[in-house]
Amino acid sequence: MGVSEAPAVRVRIAPSPTGFAHLGTASTALYNVLFARQRNGTFALRVDDTDVERNRPEYELLIYEALRWLGLDWDEGPDKGGPYAPYRQSERVDLYKQNAVKLLAEGKAYKCYCTPEELDAERRQAQAERRPYKYSRRCLIDPPKDRTEFAVRFKVPGGKVNFTDMIRGEMTFDADLIGDFIVMKSDGYPTYQFASPVDDALMKITHVIRGEEHLSNTPYQLMIIDALGYERPAAYAHMPLILAKDGAKLSKRKHPEANLALYREKGYLPEAMINYLALLGWNPGTQQEIFTFDELVRVFSFDRVQHAGARFDWEKLNWINGEWIRSLDDAELARRLQPFLPKLDAATIAAAVPALKTRMTKFSDATALLEYLWTDPTPPTLDSESIERISAAAEALKDVAWEPSAIHERLMQVVEASGQGPNKTFMPLRLAVTGKKISPPIDYTLALLPEEVAMERIRRVLGT
Ligand code: GLU
Repeated sequence: MGVSEAPAVRVRIAPSPTGFAHLGTASTALYNVLFARQRNGTFALRVDDTDVERNRPEYELLIYEALRWLGLDWDEGPDKGGPYAPYRQSERVDLYKQNAVKLLAEGKAYKCYCTPEELDAERRQAQAERRPYKYSRRCLIDPPKDRTEFAVRFKVPGGKVNFTDMIRGEMTFDADLIGDFIVMKSDGYPTYQFASPVDDALMKITHVIRGEEHLSNTPYQLMIIDALGYERPAAYAHMPLILAKDGAKLSKRKHPEANLALYREKGYLPEAMINYLALLGWNPGTQQEIFTFDELVRVFSFDRVQHAGARFDWEKLNWINGEWIRSLDDAELARRLQPFLPKLDAATIAAAVPALKTRMTKFSDATALLEYLWTDPTPPTLDSESIERISAAAEALKDVAWEPSAIHERLMQVVEASGQGPNKTFMPLRLAVTGKKISPPIDYTLALLPEEVAMERIRRVLGT
């Protein structure tokens, strides 16, 4: 048996529970999970909840729920525990304090007494002089004697910070351009820039896989890890940002597609979401577009992840979802449809499945397509030709066996006799029975209703 030199792979996501669960969280989680599964590694969920003002426990639950729905379960986390517990940053504040004290004691950080107004003035002055802003180090050089309230500021050592990005290759940042930054705020809470690398190091994270918006944070965080004498993660991967269709950054406020809960509500399949999210930012290098999770584990690699932002595309998602819907067997489809059709019994849903399968891109479509089964439509006003067609259809449907194929046969006879296209007969019939222009194929539309109800709706339009 060979002994591997490299430490076991450990990855994490670190969402902040400050609002609804975000699509980006699912995407980052997916790439982390794929990588962890490929390497027999461990996937941890750490909750970045040090923003006391904006965090809510219910948002944390929304994250759990959305990730579980997608099947992206974690091995360690606040609800599960694990060897590096606690997994909520709000419960780790003492650890951050100890690490800040260590930096202070070693002269790698200093107390900063500046007020927000003073810092603002420094910033404005730099702006006026058209130079990039860096903290002046005034509290390092000449700390005020009369103040007690302070933040802890990291003394940036400067030089170059190098690291490996699994997508972008070898990265170099010039730390001389980075000003000393705050690690502990005066309220005793750490900044993200401090808590995150401390946890990555203490939790023995080997690969940090996260959104591209954090690429510029990495040199800050590596300087912290180095200053504390911890071991760095072996590599980072910064995944492309997910953009709205128009190329704008996906915003929680403006783009409903940012909200993960929406997909479950609308009846997208978790399998299809995983498939779509994998392709949003990564390509397999082949024509294949439909992937199961297990296939993704086999073929995913960071070298095929794109550098540019990934535009969200409803059409593609709908197509993938439709493919997944059609791949389910009828019984499974009926079972999954049930929550979307609470007014229908299991037998009716089962009877509707073959017709829905071809006309649905998502389960909520079924609700609209079948609404006429539990809502009596307002009878439409039709022209005399349409009335004639319906009348012929009504005649032909007398004592037909009430099921789709027999109904279909009779209606095709009516169509043939009319010498016109099928829609001239089907559309007025559909309107009479459902009140809508879109419904399942007409034979199913009729057969799914009890015969007396369908015929009554037809007679009502005919005035007979
Ligand atoms: N809380 C950060 C976020 O939600 C975590 C970033 C990271 O993975 O380091 O983006």
